[in-house]
Amino acid sequence: MEAHACHTLSTATPAGPGHWNWWGLCLWLPGCIGFGALLAWAAFEVGQWFSPLVVFPLLVGLVLGVSLVAMMRLFQMGHRPTAWLALGLAAVVVIAGQHYFSYRAAVVEANRASEQLQKARTTFGTLVQGRLPAPPTGPIDYLRRRADEGRPLDTVLGNHMAKGWLAWLSWALDGLLVLGPAAAMVAYALRRPFCGRCGSWYATRRAGPLDAQAVQQLVEILGLSPADTPKGGRYRLISCNQGCAPTGFSLSWKELDTKKLPEILWLDDQQHTRVIEILDHSQTGTQGKSVC
Ligand SMILES: [Zn+2]
Repeated sequence: MEAHACHTLSTATPAGPGHWNWWGLCLWLPGCIGFGALLAWAAFEVGQWFSPLVVFPLLVGLVLGVSLVAMMRLFQMGHRPTAWLALGLAAVVVIAGQHYFSYRAAVVEANRASEQLQKARTTFGTLVQGRLPAPPTGPIDYLRRRADEGRPLDTVLGNHMAKGWLAWLSWALDGLLVLGPAAAMVAYALRRPFCGRCGSWYATRRAGPLDAQAVQQLVEILGLSPADTPKGGRYRLISCNQGCAPTGFSLSWKELDTKKLPEILWLDDQQHTRVIEILDHSQTGTQGKSVC
């Protein structure tokens, strides 16, 4: 099956990327950073009980990516530079935040041990010997001490102790494992068209199966020239919330070589009207689901 898209069809493009705005910078961006802090705290708490190497930072990255994409959709944030900035800052907060909460816990533990020692000395006097190490003076001092002590790495290949720069390297790799999946998910989400006029993401408004006759009519209207006659297929209509930018249409059928057909065809007003007519009159097309 071969199909060729008409050149005049796919030249119409959506309204373009979202515009920079104060709302995104002053509210949405801090919201993402705040969420990053919350996720860092949750990851720290969970990590005390369950933190398998490689898998745990990947899971944290997935949660971060899913959450950022959901917030982009929910709040109709389509300004790509702001979205990338939010990802970068939120990822830094998630990665550094876990170390910070770990440092805070170490300080609390050190103070508690110091108090207990003090009480023991008050009760037993000189019978109690020994001195406790001073609490870490800051997050960097805490990490330096942990690196000197060594980070245990339990793997299927055996247990290792990463000391010094190896410990720092392992933390850097953990950070990349958080950032990687989150960045991949945001990049994929940003591929979806966004209407800069009404400031909304394109969404599926209508989708469903099509009979052979409807597919044939659409193929002609859209200027496609498949080698075989499709026996039936599926369609999807996408548009922005206000319908102020060109409507996107995707058509597929069995045996279609998708490499030879654009993923989304952009319809002008005339094509849009004719496509809707065909969908309305198609026996199976009328059963297509309207998706709001
Ligand atoms: Zn619009």
